[in-house]
Amino acid sequence: MKKTKKLAALLLAALMTVGMAGCVSSSSTTDTSDSSQSTGDSQGSSTVVMATNAEFEPFEYMDGTEYKGIDIEISQKIAEKMGAELEIHNVAFESVIAELTSGKADFAAAGLTINEDRLKNVDFSDTYYSTTQVILVRSDETEITSSADLKGKTVGVQTGTTGDTYATDEDKEYNHGIAEVKRYNKFMDATSDLIAGRLDAVIVDDFPADKLIERNPDKIKKLDEELTGEDYAIAVPKGDTEMLNTVNEVLDELEESGELDEIFDKYLQ
Ligand code: GLN
Repeated sequence: MKKTKKLAALLLAALMTVGMAGCVSSSSTTDTSDSSQSTGDSQGSSTVVMATNAEFEPFEYMDGTEYKGIDIEISQKIAEKMGAELEIHNVAFESVIAELTSGKADFAAAGLTINEDRLKNVDFSDTYYSTTQVILVRSDETEITSSADLKGKTVGVQTGTTGDTYATDEDKEYNHGIAEVKRYNKFMDATSDLIAGRLDAVIVDDFPADKLIERNPDKIKKLDEELTGEDYAIAVPKGDTEMLNTVNEVLDELEESGELDEIFDKYLQ
């Protein structure tokens, strides 16, 4: 990147940062508002739009006014490959897929698990990570030691996630007997309610669970049980084979070069 361009990009980033700061500090409206931020070259290049929900450390989260995380880095590589500038649409998790179906975004990277419901509306890339849902409880919890102990309990989830699907158990697949499911826009808020005693447990993806524990040392712990099998992939609008092929090419390249491992390693504790 040429110096002059770099300066322009920096100036733009500074301007965006000011804009974002306003968004981020406007508390409760943050995660439902469609906030955008562009990174990289700003002059004369096209834009590729990523939809995400930056409430899912280490995959996507805000570090001050900056977007960080594994999905952000992969998405930057996708933009690079396309010779485009990455624009980030940070929306509520339950709206991430709608960003694609409404044509507002080119792809979605949000620690998205492939599932049948979503496959009706979008296409998924190759998998780049496999994991499970886990249970978080307070550190001093003795009663809940596995999913069998969730019977009659109040459990927090993030709205529209596979954790929500597990806890809601509409198809009576798990029969855990959870009494009440409380839905949140942010796992951070569910965790605060768990710590405050307003929830008995939180169900969340494994790696983000570790990050929530890191952010709340000595207050919460993770149970060993693996509740589900989850394969993360990047979603593209249904039938957009060009976008799909680009994403898969980038994932292949990152895997073969060892860069994907490096990205993941960076976010380990
Ligand atoms: N993997 C989960 C899902 O796809 C959670 C993702 C998230 O909260 N960002 O539903």
